[in-house]
Amino acid sequence: MGARTGEQYLEGLKATSRELWLGSERVGDVTEHPALHAAAHSMARVFDRQFECADDCLMVDPETGEPINVSHLIPRSRDDLWRRHRGLERIAEISVGLMGRTPDYKNVTFAGFAGRRREWAGPGERNARGADNLVAFQKRLRRNDIALTHTIVHPTVDKRKGDAPRPGDEVPLHKVGETADSIILRGARILATSAPFADELVVYPGFPLTGRPDGLEPYALSFAVPMDTPGLVFLCRDSYAVGGDAFDHPLSSNFDEQDAFVMFDDVEVPKENVFIDGDVGVYNSVMRLAWWPNVMQQTTIRALTKLEFAYGLASRMTRAIGDTSDLTADMMGELLTYVEMTRSGLLLSVEHARDYGDGVWFPDERPLAPLRATLTQWIPRAFEILILIGSHNLIAAPSRGMLDDERIHGLVERYMRGADDLDAESRSAVFRLAWDFCGSALAGRHALYERFYLGSAARNRKVLYWTAEGTMSGTPGPVLARGDALVEAMLSLGGSGRR
Ligand SMILES: Cc1cc2nc3c(=O)[nH]c(=O)nc-3n(C[C@H](O)[C@H](O)[C@H](O)COP(=O)(O)OP(=O)(O)OC[C@H]3O[C@@H](n4cnc5c(N)ncnc54)[C@H](O)[C@@H]3O)c2cc1C
Repeated sequence: MGARTGEQYLEGLKATSRELWLGSERVGDVTEHPALHAAAHSMARVFDRQFECADDCLMVDPETGEPINVSHLIPRSRDDLWRRHRGLERIAEISVGLMGRTPDYKNVTFAGFAGRRREWAGPGERNARGADNLVAFQKRLRRNDIALTHTIVHPTVDKRKGDAPRPGDEVPLHKVGETADSIILRGARILATSAPFADELVVYPGFPLTGRPDGLEPYALSFAVPMDTPGLVFLCRDSYAVGGDAFDHPLSSNFDEQDAFVMFDDVEVPKENVFIDGDVGVYNSVMRLAWWPNVMQQTTIRALTKLEFAYGLASRMTRAIGDTSDLTADMMGELLTYVEMTRSGLLLSVEHARDYGDGVWFPDERPLAPLRATLTQWIPRAFEILILIGSHNLIAAPSRGMLDDERIHGLVERYMRGADDLDAESRSAVFRLAWDFCGSALAGRHALYERFYLGSAARNRKVLYWTAEGTMSGTPGPVLARGDALVEAMLSLGGSGRR
């Protein structure tokens, strides 16, 4: 089949009856539900976009000759990464980065996994069957243009017990049995973003399984499963989608991609869709090296798009109210700093991309690691800057209904105009967009997403530190080596080298 249109994608969703709960009800057709309808159609636009921007978004499947999305490309050169960059940028533009889990996120992930088959096969090819299943799955994924959601983190029960499950724990997803053709799973995982809009769910390792491996095998799992598999239950958070006229809430009315807690109530997964079944060593090693620099090309392009949008919006706001103050100029400069630092890190990561093994190229992790830690703070700070610039104007913005009322329209055009004769409707449109971006319920969820979706800032900063010190690898990184040499030179000035 190859790349799907938006219409084909929506037909696929309609044909799938998942057990998805939202508010107090089990949702029937996700494409028709009032709180999900608009986001389903926004996701459909992602599929249509690949045909509208075919030069950037589509490539030819090397085996079938069909057009497929470029996010399925297994990169084998720097040029491949530049090519993928353009396609990812076109997709991010649709929601200005507000939909974090458009299908390209997992497409990039699985292209990376399939390119690293040897890593999934493990020492001595002991997980060869799982690795072959994964490569076959990636082919099915790209040929059928499937939309995935994923859950890689165990639910929090008692933080004192640490991140990893202990033998016998009932809550984290685990295997409880098997038949000749399938494995049977029970437990829960967080947090399937885009669960209403996905065709299949994938599970792969998040945090490593620590401690003695004995008894942890049931938790070492990776697989794919259709969303309508019996026993699979999705509990959505409250909806932040707002109906009515899109003028009033242009983002909330279109881009609430949802997040769901996932429960496995004795779910059967066919063995052909299982990539890891009990191999703790493989589970703990596959994500260590290449997963995150690969997927961060997608996530950083999306984050950059969001920051560029934030800058454009802030600039519009200043012009709408003639804000030329020093304080605002300072904050605009700060915002621009985040844009340009993010852009520089992204470009540098591709410029310094390398073969990570088996001829598969991923971006250099060095410029991406600090971005992984700091974008968690820069994007919430960008929201804060918009709030500081916008002040009361963010909420003193007449609605579509007010503007359409003859009497009120006359009054707001007299009293709610902007600088340089900006009419009230244009001014309101800018500030309504801004509030929806930085202050609405959807915005609150976005700040949460940016803070945590790739792990918290604190965790990522600690990994940076451990990498520099060589805590896990045993080899100090280049920053420490250089820093040490510089310190040594200064110490020798004081004569410490002589003693
Ligand atoms: C909106 C949203 C969407 C998400 N979507 C998905 C998805 O689609 N798929 C998926 O698999 N997951 C998803 N997640 C889950 C995400 O992967 C986790 O939130 C993330 O891994 C962080 O884990 P945590 O929430 O348990 O927070 P923690 O890592 O526990 O961090 C919370 C706080 O605890 C403290 N803390 C705890 N432990 C440490 C530590 N070791 N070092 C430093 N600080 C620590 C820090 O103060 C930190 O800020 C989503 C999360 C959110 C918020």
